[in-house]
Amino acid sequence: MKVVVLVGGVGGARFLQGVKAALGLPAIGPGESPHEITAVVNNGDDVWLHGLRVCPDLDTCMYTLGGGIDTERGWGQAGESWTVKEELAAYGAEPSWFGLGDKDIATHLVRSRMLRAGYPLSAVTEALCARWQPGVRLLPASDDRVETHVSVDDPETGERRAIHFQEWWVRHRAQLPAHAIVSVGAEEAKPGPGVAEAITNADIVLFAPSNPVVSVGTILAVPGIRAAITATEAPVIGLSPIIDGKPLRGMADACLTAIGVDSTAEAVARHYGSRKAGGVLDGWLIHTGDSALVEGVEVRAVPLLMSTVDATARMALDAFELGGVRVG
Ligand code: GDP
Ligand code: CA
Repeated sequence: MKVVVLVGGVGGARFLQGVKAALGLPAIGPGESPHEITAVVNNGDDVWLHGLRVCPDLDTCMYTLGGGIDTERGWGQAGESWTVKEELAAYGAEPSWFGLGDKDIATHLVRSRMLRAGYPLSAVTEALCARWQPGVRLLPASDDRVETHVSVDDPETGERRAIHFQEWWVRHRAQLPAHAIVSVGAEEAKPGPGVAEAITNADIVLFAPSNPVVSVGTILAVPGIRAAITATEAPVIGLSPIIDGKPLRGMADACLTAIGVDSTAEAVARHYGSRKAGGVLDGWLIHTGDSALVEGVEVRAVPLLMSTVDATARMALDAFELGGVRVG
C-alpha cells in the first residue's frame, strides 16, 4: 500500500509514528515492509538564523522518527547542550528567542553547507535522513522558497508589518493579534521532486492532525500540490487537530482566528472543503463526542488522542477504513 501523509512538525511526526505502526513498521527507525509511506512536510516555517538554514518541521519529523527527538520538549534533540546559544547571547547576537542546541546546530551546518553548494532542500533532506533512517520518505513540500509571514501591529511602533512566522509563534507566542497569514512564494512554488507523483500514485492520502493553517494549509498553498490532491484517484482523508473546540497542544486557534475560521472540527473541515465542490477532502475523522456536518465529506467520530503509538496507529487504521482501503 502506498500512503501519502501531509504533515507539519510535532503533530505530524507523532501521527507518522502511528501510520508506521499501523503498517507493521517500528515507530522509530527503518523496517521491512511491503508498504510505502511518503510524508509531504511543510517547509513554510523554515528560517535563516545566524547564517544557518533551520527547517523545524522537517527536523521534528526526522528526529522523532529517527529516535533523536527530545520527547519532553517536543522539538530539538535529546541530551542537548546549549554552549553555542550562550556564546551567541554573550555577543548580544539576535535573534535570541530561538533555541538552537549544539547537536541541532550540526544538522543546520550540514544543511546550510549543502544548500550553499547548490543542492536543493529535497536532496539535503535525503542526505540527512541517511543518518536518521526515519523509515518513511520525508519530502519537503517544495524546494522553492515558501515562507509563512504574519501581518501584525508592531508592539513598539504600532505600525502594521509582516514578520516571519517563527517570530510571531516563538517570540510572541502567537499573542500578537494576526491580521493575516501569508505563504510568501507559495503561488510561484513548484511541488518538490516526487511530491505530485506520490500523491497521484497513492492508495490513500491523509492529512495529519497538523495545524490546518500553517502546516497543512501551507503545503496546500503550492498550486501543483493542491492540483495533485484534487485530481488523485486516491481517497483523501483528514484528521481533526481540533477537539472539543480547542487545538490539542499549541496555539493553532490563533492561526484559525487570523483566517476567520472557527476553532471547531466542523469549521476546519468546511475550510478544507469537499473534493466534490472544489475542496480537498473526501473524509474527515473527528474526535468522539464532536460533530461535523459537511456536504460531500464523509465524517466519522473516533478517538483522536495520540496518547500512545498504539492509539495513534488505531487512528491511522480508522482513516484507512474511512477511505475504503485495506492493509494487506
Ligand atoms: P507543529 O508544526 O510542530 O506546530 O505541529 P503540527 O502542525 O504538525 O501539529 C500541531 C497540531 O497538532 C496542533 O494544532 C494540535 O491541535 C494537533 N495535535 C497535537 N496533539 C494531538 C492529538 O493527540 N490529537 C489530535 N487530534 N491533534 C493533536
Ligand atoms: Ca510547524
